[in-house]
Amino acid sequence: MTDRLAELTKRLLEIDDIERAAAVLGWDQMTYMPQGGNQGRGEQLATLASLAHERLVSPEFGDVLRAFAEEVRGAPEGDVRHALLRTVQRAYDQATKLPQELVARQMRLTTEAYESWVAARAAKDFSVFAPAFAKMVDLSREIAEALGYPEESYDALLDLSEPGMTTKVAADLLGELKASLVPLVEAIAEHKERVDRSILYGHFADETQWRLGLEAITAFGFDFSRGRQDRSIHPFTTSFGVGDVRITTRISEDTFASAFFSTLHEGGHGLYEQGLPAEWARTPLGQAISSGVHESQSRLWENLVGRSRPFWRYFLPKAQAAFPSQFGQVSVEDIYRAVNYVEPSLIRVDADEVTYNLHIAVRFEVERALMRGELAARDVPEAWRAKMQEYLGVVPPDDLVGALQDIHWTGGLGGFIGYSVGNVVSAQVWEAAGRTIGDLPERIAQGDFAPLLGFLRRELHQLGSRETTDGFLRKATGQGLTTRPYLAYIEGKFSELYGL
Ligand code: ZN
Repeated sequence: MTDRLAELTKRLLEIDDIERAAAVLGWDQMTYMPQGGNQGRGEQLATLASLAHERLVSPEFGDVLRAFAEEVRGAPEGDVRHALLRTVQRAYDQATKLPQELVARQMRLTTEAYESWVAARAAKDFSVFAPAFAKMVDLSREIAEALGYPEESYDALLDLSEPGMTTKVAADLLGELKASLVPLVEAIAEHKERVDRSILYGHFADETQWRLGLEAITAFGFDFSRGRQDRSIHPFTTSFGVGDVRITTRISEDTFASAFFSTLHEGGHGLYEQGLPAEWARTPLGQAISSGVHESQSRLWENLVGRSRPFWRYFLPKAQAAFPSQFGQVSVEDIYRAVNYVEPSLIRVDADEVTYNLHIAVRFEVERALMRGELAARDVPEAWRAKMQEYLGVVPPDDLVGALQDIHWTGGLGGFIGYSVGNVVSAQVWEAAGRTIGDLPERIAQGDFAPLLGFLRRELHQLGSRETTDGFLRKATGQGLTTRPYLAYIEGKFSELYGL
C-alpha cells in the first residue's frame, strides 16, 4: 500500500465507522427502542451525520484526495485504485457541492414534511401534505442545481441513488416495461379466475412462520454467525459490516405469503451485504454498487427463486410439515400458482411481479412533471388517479391508498427508479446464471443453492463497487441494462399461468 493510499484509507475508515455506528442506532430505533427514545435518538443521529460530513468535506480530506488522484493518474488501467478514486470522488463531490445550509434546510423540511404527511394520512387528504410537499419539490430543484446534471434537473436526483442514471434512460426503460406489461395486465384481468390463492389465507402461527422463513434463507446461504433477523413495522436490511448484517420482517398470522416472501427478499439483500469484499471493508469500494443493484439481489431470491416451481418442489414438504392442516393436501402446482397470483392493486409494496413496475412508472412520471414545473404539488392526486386508471385499471378511492402511500416524498424525489432497475437486473443476472449453471433448476429443486450463490458472489458481491452498474452487467451478462430478459421471463411465466 502506498503512503497516499494509506493516508486516504485511514480517513475513510473513520468516516465509515461513524456511519456504521449511526446504522446501529438506526436499526435499534426501528426494532427495540422504546418510544421515549425518539427525540434523543434523532439528536444522536444528527450529530453522527454531521461528524461524518465534516470529515468528508474538510480541507485536509480534500488535500489527501487530490494527492491520491495524482498518484492514480499514473496507475495502469484496471488498477483497483482507479475504482477507489471514482467512488470516493463521487461521495466527496456530492458532499462539497451541497452547501451545509442547504443540507440543514433539507433535514428541517424532511421533519416538517413527515409531520404533515402523517396528518394528511389521518385525514386521507393529499391537500394537507401539498404545501410541505411543494416546498420539498422546490428544494429538490435547488439540490439538483447545486449538484449539476447533463440534461434536466431530475437527472441529478436519479443519479443520487443510481449512479449514472438519467431521466432519458429511466423513461426509456419504463416505457418498454409499460408497452408490454399494460396489455398483459389487461389480459390477465379477464382471466382472474384461472389462478386461486385461497390456500395462502387462514391461520398460520407466528413462530412457525418465523422458523420457516429462517429455514429457507439458511438454505440459500445466509450466515447467521454474521447476521440476524428481528422484527420491525416495515421490513428492511442494514449492515454494520460484512460480519454483522441485520434483516427484519413482520408477521401476520392470517396469511402465509407476506412474511415468508419478505424474509426471502430481505435475505437476498443480506446475502449481498455478507458477500461484499472484506479487504475493502470500511471504504466506499467495499459497498454495493447502487440501490437498484441491491434490489436485484432481493428480487432474485424472492421472485426468480422463491416463486419458481423448482423451489416449491424442494420446499413444499417443509411447508407441509410446518402447516399440515393448511398445506397437507396442497400440490407443488397449487402453491406455485397461488404465490404467483396477479392482481392490479392500489398499493405498491403489495404489488405482484407483473404490476409492480407500473406503480414505479406512475411515480416516475409524476415526479418528472413536478421537477419540470408541468405539474403543481396540489394537482398530484388527479394526475395519480389518471395514471393508475391508464396503467392498472384501478383508481384509489382516497389519497391514503393513492399518492400518500409511500413515505419517500417526505425526504425528496428520485428514490423509486431503483426498484425497476432491480427487477430488470434480477432477470438479466438470472439468465446469465442459468447459462453458466446448466442444471440450475434441478439444483434448486434439490435445495442446493450453492452454485447460484457462488455465481452471485463471483460476478457481483465480491466486486463491491469496483465496477459500475453497466460495467458489472456487461461482464456478468454480456450486455448493459436491458429489459429483454425481464420481459421474456414475465411474459413466458404469466402467459402459461393464466393460459393466455
Ligand atoms: Zn428491497
